[in-house]
Amino acid sequence: MKTDFKLLIDGKLVDGVSTFDVVNPATEESFAQCPRASEAMLDEAVAAAKAAQPAWAALSADERQAYLNKLADAMEARHEEFGRLLTAEQGKPLDQAMYEIGGSIYTIRAIAAMRLPDQTMRDEGGNTIIEHRTPLGVCAAITPWNFPVILLVGKMAPCLITGNTMVAKPAPTTPLTTLLLAELAADILPAGVFNVVCDQNELGPKLTGHPDIAKVSFTGSTATGKKVMASAAEGVKRVTLELGGNDAAIVLDDVPAKVAAEKVYNGAMANAGQICVAIKRAYVPTAMYDEFCAEIAKLTKAAVVDDGSKQGATVGPVQNKMQYDKVLAMIEDAKASGTLIAEAAKPDKAGYFIAPTVIGGLSDDAPLVAEEQFGPVLPVLTYDDIEDVIQRANDSPFGLGGTVWGMDQLRAMDVARRINSGTVWVNQHLAIDPNIPFRGSKQSGLGSEHGTAGLMEYTQAHIINAVNLEAEPA
Ligand code: NAD
Repeated sequence: MKTDFKLLIDGKLVDGVSTFDVVNPATEESFAQCPRASEAMLDEAVAAAKAAQPAWAALSADERQAYLNKLADAMEARHEEFGRLLTAEQGKPLDQAMYEIGGSIYTIRAIAAMRLPDQTMRDEGGNTIIEHRTPLGVCAAITPWNFPVILLVGKMAPCLITGNTMVAKPAPTTPLTTLLLAELAADILPAGVFNVVCDQNELGPKLTGHPDIAKVSFTGSTATGKKVMASAAEGVKRVTLELGGNDAAIVLDDVPAKVAAEKVYNGAMANAGQICVAIKRAYVPTAMYDEFCAEIAKLTKAAVVDDGSKQGATVGPVQNKMQYDKVLAMIEDAKASGTLIAEAAKPDKAGYFIAPTVIGGLSDDAPLVAEEQFGPVLPVLTYDDIEDVIQRANDSPFGLGGTVWGMDQLRAMDVARRINSGTVWVNQHLAIDPNIPFRGSKQSGLGSEHGTAGLMEYTQAHIINAVNLEAEPA
């Protein structure tokens, strides 16, 4: 596996001022060094992006699309290498890593094909009003460690196709797949259009506060998102924030318990629960509780927790030590105040492995219910009244996603309408699509990614309001 990585600044692959270890969470061992950028290098990256932006914006959208498609083709040619590197740095099982890379390639191509044509708002009596959209300039992308590739390309593709340039900064524990993408970009994109700097959590404020950054697209925790928003205030920068969640799954009384348990289990434990829209609390009718728990217990016990590079592993390690300690503490607390429904086996070896765990009997204000666990542990709660469960699902500062499960689809959709979040899936989960806007309500975010709404966020709406002098009365 490749172990030599460089930053990308102004089209050149360069060393950092120092390096730091990148740890494989399945072994706790460092397997590669990541170059670390200085503040001066960050300034160089922003300056390069600023210098490159006018010529990039002057290309036609079709020309920019051709560049992005070349990048997608180059990723596709190295799909497996990307997948293996993603498993090594992030921990997810290889099939899930390959899926993330496949989704990333698809996302680049889908977004590169989108356009924002001029809108004619009036054309009558000699008065022509059009709204057209211009790029913002240099945008920053700041990404977390749970889906380092697909979350990055979901920012890069709309930024570049609309004529902006970018400086990207990955999370310090998963920088390598971003640097592999940078290596491909160095051969394909004009110098300065896409730049990557890496840090150990110290460059974020410098990037978001930089006077030449016009927009910050941030995905990460709500706590950091608030800092990003505050730092953007000084320059009235545009921000898109995709933040934390505490998504409820509401199981209606007409679904077979076995079906519901399987869907909820998968929605809670994929990527070891480290998904912003993972199912983080499940509400089932009291009358279904025992059967639901018996079914979800079977699935939990069948989990194969292991190094994601091992064939057959269904749940990999948690990505980093800090998250591992946080999730373990939440599980211990929940076990002490609730009832253990099921716990998987986990390997007795080094690695941030946490056995998938399902816990019942918790109150609504227990930390595992009220806070974002971001790990492979799920609380199951009961309800008797639909109004009550809707109110409890909404009683959260978060509002990212959510699911409703019911055989009567229209009834389930009625419940879904009343959940205060950016997305509610009915009888499916994680159907994230580059063509469909994705956003959070309340403290789960601000603005949209994906779809036309997401593309617009990389542009300034510009009204041209013209009258025809020849049409004026003499
Ligand atoms: P984090 O907020 O700790 O870090 C995210 C990124 O912000 C990293 O690159 C980090 O280096 C950088 N950063 C740290 N301090 C900064 C600062 N002051 N200014 C600017 N940048 C700074 O998040 P994380 O722990 O890496 O990711 C987990 C969180 O991300 C969870 O809460 C999860 O729900 C959320 N998330 C949300 C979505 C979504 O689309 N809504 C998707 C994935 C993850």
